[in-house]
Amino acid sequence: MFVVMQRAASEAEILGVKSRILAEGLTPYENPSAEGLKVAVVGEIGGRREALLGQLAQLPGVARVTPIKRPFKLTSREFHPDDTVIRVLDAAVGDGSLTVMAGPCSVESREQLLKTARRVKAAGATILRGGAFKPRTSPYAFQGLGVEALRYLAEARDETGLPVITEVMEPNQVDIVAEYADILQIGTRNMQNYSLLQSAGRVARPVMLKRGYGATVEEWLMAAEYIVSSGNPNVILCERGIRTFETYTRNTLDLAAVPLLHSLTHLPVIVDPSHATGKRFLVAPLALGGVAVGADGVMVEVHPDPDSALSDSEQQLTIEQFEALMVDLVPVHEHVSDLNGVVMRPVHADAPDGGGLSKH
Ligand code: PEP
Ligand code: MN
Repeated sequence: MFVVMQRAASEAEILGVKSRILAEGLTPYENPSAEGLKVAVVGEIGGRREALLGQLAQLPGVARVTPIKRPFKLTSREFHPDDTVIRVLDAAVGDGSLTVMAGPCSVESREQLLKTARRVKAAGATILRGGAFKPRTSPYAFQGLGVEALRYLAEARDETGLPVITEVMEPNQVDIVAEYADILQIGTRNMQNYSLLQSAGRVARPVMLKRGYGATVEEWLMAAEYIVSSGNPNVILCERGIRTFETYTRNTLDLAAVPLLHSLTHLPVIVDPSHATGKRFLVAPLALGGVAVGADGVMVEVHPDPDSALSDSEQQLTIEQFEALMVDLVPVHEHVSDLNGVVMRPVHADAPDGGGLSKH
């Protein structure tokens, strides 16, 4: 539930409401709105719901108390109707502009990264990606250059001005990655690594949370809720495909998740057609598809010589293929932006119910 304060509510009245929430062992989260300050009541409310709703509604300065239907609270549009816009250096994610994250799967050398960074920037990319710590299926596969790669990413950012995003795999890597990178990425394999989510929730860097390859939309939003409730409101969601019975593609890109998420949550949504398909020739069509269904942007793997790449060589675009993709992507985004918000932002009242919280 959340409390909406009267617009003229005093500091003392706001404090009174927050103290009442804290006294129940619950946590208050504030969100300013045109209507008046909103205070979400988060925690295990259980059987106290009705009584608490009534008690809070009686407190001085309170305009109304509204239950939040969904299990995700702070990430829900019910609590926070306005889109979250994430600003990092000169880039903005979720403000209606087209976000394009591009760069190699893995940072392999200083030259490889700097060359890719310069070229993707010239082609219109807004954020540079590159893996430093790589989650590989095989322990014998290239595991990334680690801190050396973080230094190259920072150098590429300083030269091009592009903010950099890179994956963090463990809680004890969060500080070092946050020192060098502008955005932390949590990969599909770690979507439900709750201690990592909480650690990422405590740093002053936006976090891009990729969908677990076997996760429902609701489980994904509950994972995002961990980050936001730990203190970090700047979360980007990335649909990167889920595992199905299909084997011609690496994963199955769930494009319906994009407008669905826009109706359920205020967080920006990015589509990753590279990991979704695992096939170079499928990346451009699905990047266009992602933007056409209203994604705030895409993440695409680009390598100067994909065939010699140390990871994901079959799905990385050449620089020329990326340049060609950008020529097609920009007008699709412009067209979709002109559709009066029908595609970009369905109203949350239209959002269907999920199957409820599954099992855990
Ligand atoms: C990546 O983006 O580098 C990556 C490993 O992606 P995912 O977690 O989606 O597999
Ligand atoms: Mn990859």
